[in-house]
Amino acid sequence: MVNAQAVRTWLQQKGIDRCGACGSEDLQVSRDLYALVTIDRTTGGPDHRRGTRAVRLRCGNCAHLVLLHARQMGLEE
Ligand SMILES: [Zn+2]
Repeated sequence: MVNAQAVRTWLQQKGIDRCGACGSEDLQVSRDLYALVTIDRTTGGPDHRRGTRAVRLRCGNCAHLVLLHARQMGLEE
């Protein structure tokens, strides 16, 4: 479960207050973390042992999606 308030505080500290595509301030924080899974170079399939966890922001106006690196945001160890 993502701490939406912690994400909003982080966004505010970084000066991010609106959608980069349309300018709307309606940015919705995902409840769950998402995973960007690395593709195994040998098999060409997903390697579920390696990857990046991300918080998803979705613009309530234009549906633009943004992924933020959870560890860099301090949301995981
Ligand atoms: Zn937008």
